[in-house]
Amino acid sequence: MKRFLPFFLCLLLLSGCAALSGEAEPAQVQFFSMDTVMSIRVYDGGGEDAIQAARQEVERLDKLLSRTTTDSEISALNSHAGDGTLVSMEPEVIQLLAFAQSISQLLPGDFDITIAPVMDAWGFTTEEQHVPSDASLSAAMALVDSSLLTVDEEASAARLEQAGMEVDLGAVAKGFAASRAEAVLREHDVTSALVDLGGNITAIGGKLDGSPWQVAVKDPQNTSEALCVLSLSDQTASTSGGYERYFEQNGVIYHHIIDPKTGYPAQSGLLSVTVVSSNQMLADALSTALFVAGEEDALAFWRSRDDFELVLCTEDNRVIVTEGLEAGYRPAGEERGYTYEIARR
Ligand code: ADP
Ligand code: MG
Repeated sequence: MKRFLPFFLCLLLLSGCAALSGEAEPAQVQFFSMDTVMSIRVYDGGGEDAIQAARQEVERLDKLLSRTTTDSEISALNSHAGDGTLVSMEPEVIQLLAFAQSISQLLPGDFDITIAPVMDAWGFTTEEQHVPSDASLSAAMALVDSSLLTVDEEASAARLEQAGMEVDLGAVAKGFAASRAEAVLREHDVTSALVDLGGNITAIGGKLDGSPWQVAVKDPQNTSEALCVLSLSDQTASTSGGYERYFEQNGVIYHHIIDPKTGYPAQSGLLSVTVVSSNQMLADALSTALFVAGEEDALAFWRSRDDFELVLCTEDNRVIVTEGLEAGYRPAGEERGYTYEIARR
């Protein structure tokens, strides 16, 4: 067991939120999919079969949704951009595209899955990341417009209206995979489990003693430490932060969450956004979108809805926790200079 410990610590460091270990030994698997480290730990019900079925489901979705795999559904959509073809796609992929479109409409200017050409201009899909020239960035920006993505739910088909456009589901695929993995685990009678899909932690049920899972939100400035600890049961906590993927050029840090209004890494005054919801897809999409939106707009959007809660970490070391999390959360970064406040409706 001891020799695996460094690997487990690695996992904790890699995910935006980390589950604090329960007392019982779970049946578990760690694997790499969707460009990130994932783990599934089952504490009650199911067992090895359940875990393997859930893992296979995530890997199946990775093949369907990746834009770097040439035979994926998304690659088929992208390859027909601008040629007028309405591309037939699996209903589940169409639903995901339609969902992403709805988030773009709710938070215009903050979220856009046609951001792919801009990700490429920055080299985020390759090993060679760099600040793009003004010319290449504006050429890429001219291709970002999700209103030019037609999604026909009835025909189960979609079309990109302009040549060169591309869809990138990086901001929502893990949330979608989490919802499917949870469904598979529940079909296998799993009643207590933690699914960690690279910073999207889904708590199925509670701990064996019935109490909620304790899930740590990482300190974005000190990723081996916790910012706070959340109590979760039958909920997902999804975290987006600039610290998750970035490069440095001439002493400046550039991260992978892009402001579709500028084409540059979002500078909204936030270091990380954690969204807690029973809807995994919503949690994943909103953690990205509200990171771009910034504190004021994120809280205004939270006040307009009742299906998620937030933990915002600001550049000036404030941690804003929305009131729905108040009873179950514990601050953990006071000695590192953080102050904690509750946002009310
Ligand atoms: P992570 O993938 O690190 O967990 P997110 O869920 O926040 O983080 O998703 C970031 C990914 O989403 C990027 O790698 C990119 O593929 C895509 N993306 C970046 N900016 C946006 C945006 N404004 N709207 C939609 N997708 C985005
Ligand atoms: Mg996301």
